[in-house]
Amino acid sequence: MIVGSVEGVLEQSLVAIQQSVADFGDDLTLLCSGQDAVLIDLAMRVDPSIEITFIDTGFHFNETIETMLRIVQRYSPQLRVVVPWRHLPDVGRAGFCCSQHKVEQLEEALRGKRAWMSGVRRADGEERASAELRSIDRRGLAKVNPLVDWTDEDVEAYIEVNDIIVNPLRNRGYASIGCAPCTTPDANGRDGRWAGLAKTECGIHR
Ligand code: SF4
Repeated sequence: MIVGSVEGVLEQSLVAIQQSVADFGDDLTLLCSGQDAVLIDLAMRVDPSIEITFIDTGFHFNETIETMLRIVQRYSPQLRVVVPWRHLPDVGRAGFCCSQHKVEQLEEALRGKRAWMSGVRRADGEERASAELRSIDRRGLAKVNPLVDWTDEDVEAYIEVNDIIVNPLRNRGYASIGCAPCTTPDANGRDGRWAGLAKTECGIHR
């Protein structure tokens, strides 16, 4: 079902996904964080064979893993889970292991790919305000952000009308959900990520 308030951005998102599939085929992957299934729902409408990548840092909330299981049950996607080749359990709480537990895994996931999609939105915060619908990343791969123009209200409307799977932590005050040691409840964008540290991004979207 198409929702009135998101019709404008919805069309742009579907076209961006369709174009990505046409341009890159199997050399495309969609990076999923387990926060909600909005982008996955759109992608599965376009092409159920799009590969979904989930980086399992080993520090996720149980609710995030449960959300991924529900996504698998509903969509039966081509899911690829990448895990760290080394796990550093002591450094997660300090906020310093994104390089080992996220960035290295993304590099592995993108090996052999020509493009990737993510749910980055300009409304996520200042550091993402200049995100583009489609660009070339530092590796030379196409980076597609089909939801780039979606507001928080667009996301909420799409979730409600289409009964989209969401991480239950969203209803407990977590506006943004990352690893458990580095995420605190905060209703304001990504402010609950690495609270108290200067860090605002894990580095995978550079
Ligand atoms: S968000 Fe925290 S626990 Fe997760 S990879 Fe980054 S530093 Fe480690």
